[in-house]
Amino acid sequence: MEQLMDISHVSYSYHTMQGETPALSNINFTVHKGDFLAIVGPSGCGKSTLLSLMAGLLEPEQGSVFLYGQKVSLKGSHTIGYMLQHDHLFEWRTVEKNVLLGLEIQNKLTSETKKSVLGLLKTYGLYKFKDARPSQLSGGMRQRAALIRTLALKPEILLLDEPFSALDYQTRLTVGDDIGAIIKKEGKTAILVTHDLSEAISLGTQIIVLSKRPATIKKIIPIHFPESISALERRNSPEFKDYFNKIWKELNEHE
Ligand code: ADP
Ligand code: MG
Repeated sequence: MEQLMDISHVSYSYHTMQGETPALSNINFTVHKGDFLAIVGPSGCGKSTLLSLMAGLLEPEQGSVFLYGQKVSLKGSHTIGYMLQHDHLFEWRTVEKNVLLGLEIQNKLTSETKKSVLGLLKTYGLYKFKDARPSQLSGGMRQRAALIRTLALKPEILLLDEPFSALDYQTRLTVGDDIGAIIKKEGKTAILVTHDLSEAISLGTQIIVLSKRPATIKKIIPIHFPESISALERRNSPEFKDYFNKIWKELNEHE
């Protein structure tokens, strides 16, 4: 499969008045088109830092992040979509105005791009809420709207930083599966940071297990399920528990 992103010997430390905090140490992996990589690791180990580096928001101290062979930067020509724990929908704008916001800011709002975004609202059941305010939507619908706003810019890669963790457990299950299905249907490449192993296994094509800070890669575990099965079917399959135990062991092994 086509190589999209290459993370090569990346290290990063934060420097503050209190001193130096090494966050990442010699991280190497490759993202191919269509991958759904899930990144798991202890709290505070450097997961969000890694996504910021992949987005070009931070520059590596050592090593490089390449997208299609070019170093990523905010000024680059490639589009990277970023979705966070809080959906950041604006209450003073309607759902339609929210999902068009990115295009508006980037001066890319044309009748054509608008039509394609309204198409996404239709496909994913939000069209009838296009004139509603975010507070009138359920938690799940809000995350759908946030995803559509991200997809509107046609990103080459989607970076998701614990996007479901603000939702209660029940909602998180359905929304996680739902968002995963949309990403798959749209043929997007995604990197999901999560502390929820079940979420990682139910959505991922590979799981990257990070050590505690400064994060190093402990293991990359490929996840094999038939293409056609849903996240829920994955959760109910016999292999699920084996993957869970394997990753759990990896995470809790003494370094
Ligand atoms: P995670 O997302 O895995 O919980 P982060 O990448 O957010 O971890 O943070 C990794 C480490 O870097 C933590 O110890 C955190 O306190 C520290 N850190 C994060 N952001 C900053 C910052 N802006 N300045 C200084 N230290 C930071
Ligand atoms: Mg984080």
